[in-house]
Amino acid sequence: NLSDRLTSTFRNLRGKGRLTEADIDGTIREIRRALLDADVAVSVVKTFTGNVRERALGVEVSGALNPGEQVVKIVNEELIAILGGESRQLRHAKHGPTVIMLAGLQGAGKTTLAGKLAHHLKEQGHTPLLVAADLQRPNAVNQLQVVGERAGVPVFAPEPGVTREGERERGNPVKVAKKGLKEAEQRQHSVVIVDTAGRLGVDAELMKQAADIRKAIEPDEVLFVIDAMIGQDAVATATAFQQGVDFTGVVLTKLDGDTRGGAALSVREVTGRPIMFASTGEKLTDFEVFHPDRMAGRILDMGDVLTLIEQAEKAFDQDEAARMAEKVSKGEDFTFTDFLSQMQQLKNMGSMKKMLGMLPGMGAMRDQIENFDERELVRTEAIIQSMTPLERDNPKLLNGSRRARIARGSGMTVADINSLVKRFEQAQQMMRAINANGGNMPQLPGQG
Ligand code: GDP
Ligand code: MG
Repeated sequence: NLSDRLTSTFRNLRGKGRLTEADIDGTIREIRRALLDADVAVSVVKTFTGNVRERALGVEVSGALNPGEQVVKIVNEELIAILGGESRQLRHAKHGPTVIMLAGLQGAGKTTLAGKLAHHLKEQGHTPLLVAADLQRPNAVNQLQVVGERAGVPVFAPEPGVTREGERERGNPVKVAKKGLKEAEQRQHSVVIVDTAGRLGVDAELMKQAADIRKAIEPDEVLFVIDAMIGQDAVATATAFQQGVDFTGVVLTKLDGDTRGGAALSVREVTGRPIMFASTGEKLTDFEVFHPDRMAGRILDMGDVLTLIEQAEKAFDQDEAARMAEKVSKGEDFTFTDFLSQMQQLKNMGSMKKMLGMLPGMGAMRDQIENFDERELVRTEAIIQSMTPLERDNPKLLNGSRRARIARGSGMTVADINSLVKRFEQAQQMMRAINANGGNMPQLPGQG
């Protein structure tokens, strides 16, 4: 599986100082395969991996993660972002009942979802009314009544009419929806959930019916219900419903199946509508508010890898903080390892740059901030990463041939290395002075 494949890719990348295009492309190839396996639409995979590649090329190597891990972290973050970042809440009406309309293909899970959503809202203190506006299938009204009974929520259903010829009358779903809404207003229900008919495939008549219902009841939310198992068909179906009816949110059903749920990513990316709920079984309680981060983990199928990455980062931060504190207290010498770690802290300066520039009274610092060059940081890191651990801890070892080797390893010139060593020695002297001064900044000439 992907987790295993990525883990072995990482093993090859461990110890590399920076991300080469080849590193990135290798990892992205694996991720692309994972997304296609998860049934993410081909066009969406293409856009997505393109974005990730661009971001990965600009990334600086962090001390905690190897290049492959960095790419995976970016992929995960981008997936979560594309899936909507935060879960979106239902929008409730300011006056009168909140009207929620369900739309989607037959068998998508609308009627089942109607019961689950009603149950969920009831538990939150709402007083929902279910409205049976699916008059297409003979059994549909009855099915909603069963669902409503299980959820303990009343159902508004049309009186079974009889035509002059004595046949059962189908009834008009638009009228039923409107009547249901009126009923909810009169009985002061806080929410109305309107279940509608679906067809097996996208169908002009069905779209028109759903669009007519929408126009008649002006719902606060139109939820497009889609079966996660339909895989690559998700994009075409979602697009047809968006054009034919339009919707404000998406519900993904049958996530209990063995699908990895790539449809979620496709639908979200293509329609721009948030995924709000997930249905995970046939029981009333097999229902959850949609969580983009969980879905991202599921699509990539690499929960283990992500946990490892998280742990590596945490361990790194804690180790660093503890190590520096101990060093200062013992009056130990400042090394390139410390320098590197400080560099990495400095990276946050990049984002601080903009913010500081906007603050008043920062005139004196402005030049320094303006001159702060993130690329310089990246170069410095590359140099230090090319030193052996022994060299980092014992900078005195850095003779001419070692400097030449480091220059080759980091793609810099020997002059670059010399200038870094010089800056490092100044920093080291500063640290000695601080230690000698009981941990406080010494007075610099011209200050105070
Ligand atoms: P509708 O035609 O859109 O109203 O779909 P239904 O609610 O009637 O559901 C169609 C079938 O899918 C039924 O057999 C449901 O029990 C089943 N179903 C609905 N949601 C889920 C789900 O989340 N997981 C599973 N496994 N089955 C579901
Ligand atoms: Mg139904």
